Amino acid sequence: MSATIIDGKAFAAGLRARIADGVTAFRAQAGRAPGLAVVLVGEDPASNVYVRSKGKATREAGMESIEHRLPADVPAEDLLALVATLNADPTIDGILVQLPLPKHIDEQAVIAAIHPDKDVDGFHPINAGRLATGLPGFVPCTPLGCVMLLKSVLPSLSGLEAVVVGRSNIVGKPMAQLLLRESCTVTVVHSRTQDVPAHIRRADIVVAAVGIPQMIKGDWLKPGATVIDVGINRVDAGLVGDVDFASAVDVAGAITPVPGGVGPMTIACLLRNTLVSAGRRESVTVNE
Ligand code: NDP
Repeated sequence: MSATIIDGKAFAAGLRARIADGVTAFRAQAGRAPGLAVVLVGEDPASNVYVRSKGKATREAGMESIEHRLPADVPAEDLLALVATLNADPTIDGILVQLPLPKHIDEQAVIAAIHPDKDVDGFHPINAGRLATGLPGFVPCTPLGCVMLLKSVLPSLSGLEAVVVGRSNIVGKPMAQLLLRESCTVTVVHSRTQDVPAHIRRADIVVAAVGIPQMIKGDWLKPGATVIDVGINRVDAGLVGDVDFASAVDVAGAITPVPGGVGPMTIACLLRNTLVSAGRRESVTVNE
């Protein structure tokens, strides 16, 4: 039996259309468009592509996209001064500093300098704390997109065994918090875990965020499991995930492809967070 393929591209297109409607309604009430500022430091080609596609998607949703490009050798104080200016600008609802930053800049200090209520990436420690304690805040875009995809194929997540592979601040840890919020029983495995396959074999839900091409094999999965593959790895054959799709598709109940699974959801969730931020800041109710 072959798994249901979860079409993240189609889901993200639907979400973006709903956000565009929400933006129209917001503009009518607030008299301005939501504004997302994206800051890019240096010329990293991958970051350049991400920033360009975020700008395009923001404009397509009817929002203002404000791009700031700084040279790779910009002093940290100048970047922090720009963040302070954006924090104070009432027309800016979201601030995103594209990572990674050049080595001479302390990433955590820059993340901490963004006002938590404009931190649409959800990386600020205040937002991590809000997520952990059940307060409203901003949830990192990639794990938020993963939960939406899970809910699109599972009627309820409550009581399910979930295994998250990876414990990064931007994917693994917030993913585990979100699954806990959905009442899953959550296990997080990482590079020091003994016998990763044994944990995965128990899982009704597997979320893979490792960065190792095709690490998770079909025979590690519980038959019928729902598999969300966050990994984006460039190999000679093109882009592949952290899951060995060819063997997993015969065992899983549902699975995201790479590309076309989680990837498109990340930008859609960034737009969603920006609209939500604008709504909160202008006290306008927006449809999420
Ligand atoms: P990180 O490198 O920050 O984290 C990787 C995690 O995997 C770490 O916690 C590490 O453990 C763990 N790990 C490494 N080796 C193993 C192993 N053999 N067994 C189990 N766990 C292991 O990566 P990110 O979280 O930033 O990203 C993960 C993947 O997701 C990458 O492929 C990235 O490109 C992709 N990604 C995709 C996005 C999207 O939009 N679709 C967005 C963000 C990331 P330890 O902590 O012990 O080192």
